[in-house]
Amino acid sequence: MRGSGVAAVPTHPASGAGARSTAPGAGVGAGSIDLATVAFDVDGVIADTMVQFIDLARELFSIEHLRYQDITTYNLEDCLNISPRQIEVIIEHILDGRSAVPLLPIHGAPEVLARLGRRAGGVLFVTARPRREPIEEWLHRHIPLAPEAMEVVATGSFEGKLEVLQAKGVKVFVEDRLETCFTLAQGGIAPVLYRQPWNRQPHPFREVDSWAQIERLLMC
Ligand SMILES: [Mg+2]
Repeated sequence: MRGSGVAAVPTHPASGAGARSTAPGAGVGAGSIDLATVAFDVDGVIADTMVQFIDLARELFSIEHLRYQDITTYNLEDCLNISPRQIEVIIEHILDGRSAVPLLPIHGAPEVLARLGRRAGGVLFVTARPRREPIEEWLHRHIPLAPEAMEVVATGSFEGKLEVLQAKGVKVFVEDRLETCFTLAQGGIAPVLYRQPWNRQPHPFREVDSWAQIERLLMC
């Protein structure tokens, strides 16, 4: 998703414990991960945003032909046969967070994040969305953790993620946009790619396709 502007960057409650860590650029292996140095993307990892996109296309424009598997690139104009203007309107509804078409969590995400958050003393979410509040409220509603244990940073750009993650001592980041994974890896952060139809290109990163797998990877 596109956007610009940088929201406030509050302090990660768990970042003070970030001295223990995996080496920069190290691969992600079970047993080697300090939970205080892990952070998460939201759309396409925790939130089933593309399902909401498809539902909004149907609701707003009576577009019935979109299928999840058709979303084969992150740039929706390249893979979906709908107009750029329609894509823009749908994305604005998604970013706004007040649409009647619900944004649902990906299966297992709330429960696993709650367990991780309790063990780590907090969870950090870093999104490229331009506005923090709507997605922060959504996370507070769906993840059974105290709001104080959840920190949300909205960078307003994909490129902005690296700097935020480095500043907060993050070593492992769960992400669904493959281009971002390459950028993060170059900056010394180990990406874990959440498998989606839009990231099916070759890559060297650790890959997961469920929250059960994320839990096994991080909690072992
Ligand atoms: Mg994402």
